[in-house]
Amino acid sequence: MTESVVSLFEKLVQAEPPADAPVLFDTACVLGGSVAGLLAARVLSDRARRVVVIESDDLSTEAGARPGVPQNRQVHTLLPGGQQWVERWLPGITEEAQARGASYAGSDKAVTTVNGIPMASDGVDHHLLAIGRPLLEALIRDRVTALPNVSVLRAQATGLDYRDDAVSAVRYVGVDQADRSAKSLDADFVVDAMGRSSRLSNWLKESGYDHPRLERLPAPINYATALFERPEKFADLETACALGLFTPDHPSGGVSVAAANAIEDGQWLVMLMGYGDSRPGRTLAEFREACAKLPPIFTEATAGAPIGDVVTYHQAESRRRHFTEESLNHFPARLVSVGDAVASFNPIHGQGMSSASLHASCLASYLADAPELGAPAREFFRLQQVVVDAAWGVSAGSDAARLDAQNGTEVPDDVRQQRWAMAQIAAATLADGEVTRAFRYVSYMLRHPATLADPTLLAKAVAANEGAEAK
Ligand SMILES: Cc1cc2nc3c(=O)[nH]c(=O)nc-3n(C[C@H](O)[C@H](O)[C@H](O)COP(=O)(O)OP(=O)(O)OC[C@H]3O[C@@H](n4cnc5c(N)ncnc54)[C@H](O)[C@@H]3O)c2cc1C
Repeated sequence: MTESVVSLFEKLVQAEPPADAPVLFDTACVLGGSVAGLLAARVLSDRARRVVVIESDDLSTEAGARPGVPQNRQVHTLLPGGQQWVERWLPGITEEAQARGASYAGSDKAVTTVNGIPMASDGVDHHLLAIGRPLLEALIRDRVTALPNVSVLRAQATGLDYRDDAVSAVRYVGVDQADRSAKSLDADFVVDAMGRSSRLSNWLKESGYDHPRLERLPAPINYATALFERPEKFADLETACALGLFTPDHPSGGVSVAAANAIEDGQWLVMLMGYGDSRPGRTLAEFREACAKLPPIFTEATAGAPIGDVVTYHQAESRRRHFTEESLNHFPARLVSVGDAVASFNPIHGQGMSSASLHASCLASYLADAPELGAPAREFFRLQQVVVDAAWGVSAGSDAARLDAQNGTEVPDDVRQQRWAMAQIAAATLADGEVTRAFRYVSYMLRHPATLADPTLLAKAVAANEGAEAK
């Protein structure tokens, strides 16, 4: 019998680094040195004599600006599923983050509200790491590049070479305008971690290979993020991570989601998000005005002196590349894709970096299983599909429902039924701790969403909602 997606997902979440890992490659090359690329490099460091990460940005700069990752000044939450995996594969990172001033907030200091009403306590002490994205990436990078066989080559990858239908080298050019001559690096395994604009599909097409189908789902989101001085120490804070969700009928001034995280350097990182035409808080005055319509923590977090301006970010759609059986019919061996290059979601669910961790976990599992390296990495893509389906189901599911409701689109009965069930479960998180627990395990990427399709849980949710209505 094939293993259920539920148990496969949990195995990937809980995977440990191998105790004894035979070396499979001479040179493994990772294209892209952001979170997904670095975590893939960590996994490959057990399996390759050397791992070369090719990255076009200057990673040594401590400055926030990073052209290859324009979102890096926005709020980034590393969900517990990703955080626990990263901690296991790069031990000590959470402690170092705390030593550098990030908050590691337990359930007593992390609160989620819907229209200002807190979710019911679920009795589980989950922890959330409140940290700026540049620091988190730097902590991951420092650990990965400290591994003796991992190095970073500052260059722009421009294509691949093949031998016997397997990748054999990476072509690249230097970033220095003085020397843009074409070079190549022999590699016997290549990971595409070039983010949502990865050009891998073009390269494959140009060389006559199959490429993954690109799925696009409109999800127009507008982020505005600002930093404020925070006089209180972590220990003195009642709340260190606040997440506020607002339904369209709430007088939140078009804010659908707000977050306030007590991060390093005594700062509050505060984010407001609106859909479509709603662009909350583009100036500091507008930002504070918008926060005043939200639960009090958002006014408190924005009361201190601002550090810099409001930084905005717009994203029009979620994207997913389908590495299915058909797209792998004529596909090079020794090549995989990870992270946003495969799927980049509506960021409001905070799944990107945790998905990247689980893609790295898929890579570790694939390489541990004596893979047939002369053939396309089908088993890797099969495992990865479980992770992508899970995250995409949560994020694209709610975006599609929102779009259909907005456009008055008729949906098939089974989809309507599923959406009704999800809405019942989400609503019941305000009233029933057991439902909240199941919901949180899924939204924190610790469990597969199929765990929510449990008739007993649904009955509990419906009863809790009816009870709340009767009050
Ligand atoms: C507004 C916003 C908020 C988000 N919030 C969250 C959150 O709260 N939690 C969360 O987990 N995720 C969040 N995400 C998603 C998260 O940013 C990504 O999932 C994460 O960065 C991992 O992506 P990646 O490493 O696959 O790609 P990226 O971070 O996009 O990195 C791609 C890398 O590849 C390099 N590159 C590209 N092309 C080349 C080339 N040809 N040669 C060499 N290098 C190349 C780039 O310079 C870059 O370093 C958010 C995203 C957005 C847009």
